[in-house]
Amino acid sequence: MSTALRVCALYPDLMNIYADRGNIAVLRARCEWRGLGFELAVSGLDERVDPSAHDLFYIGGGQDRDQEAVAEDMVATKRDALRQAADGGAVVLAVCGGYQLLGESYVIGERELPGIGLVDLRTVREDGERLIGNCAIEADLGDGARVIAGFENHGGRTHLGPGETPLGRVLRGHGNNGRDGYEGVRRGNVFGTYLHGPLLPKNVWLADRLIELALGIELERLDDRLEEAAHLSARRAAGV
Ligand code: GLN
Repeated sequence: MSTALRVCALYPDLMNIYADRGNIAVLRARCEWRGLGFELAVSGLDERVDPSAHDLFYIGGGQDRDQEAVAEDMVATKRDALRQAADGGAVVLAVCGGYQLLGESYVIGERELPGIGLVDLRTVREDGERLIGNCAIEADLGDGARVIAGFENHGGRTHLGPGETPLGRVLRGHGNNGRDGYEGVRRGNVFGTYLHGPLLPKNVWLADRLIELALGIELERLDDRLEEAAHLSARRAAGV
């Protein structure tokens, strides 16, 4: 096989709320349906990652206690490699709890969980309602503005530093903090978002775009009637 997408899933057993590993299944299917190779590696607690061995790093969502279990380990065993990989153009996709850990810190009351500081953002668990519900955002990943639809459920409110760019503009839902109208973050090929669904089964165009960015290729289109229906139903659920 000449081209293969080499994916590394970070803490798949701990960071997998809402079956976020479905995102990996979609990446695999989108590659295999086109005759591209797909290789999956896993890196858990106490395991280092080789920054040059993967095209795409993935971390899913988790409850606060799951994040507590991985936060320090991620700093100790993966931070430097992930920074190196991101500098080299690898894609990093982080969902919800994983997204929060991309930043500087996640403060929950008296406790402060460290993040890997790959992007300049901070998350604080404020008093008040969790931000829950169907959500839709408009994002432009270089091929025009498109909708990403999903479901969010987070107690943390994320605030981007002044130099950071959000992934998209909230059309419906709460987004990063329920106040500023933005959702997620994008810095180069590093993506963070609060949207579950899981994210990629509901937005296969996004899966394809991430594969393109990770491999530096242009993908041929597939017959996506079923996938488009799933996307439309997620949009409808959000009222968009
Ligand atoms: N535990 C985090 C929060 O509640 C992230 C939740 C999630 O991944 N859905 O803010």
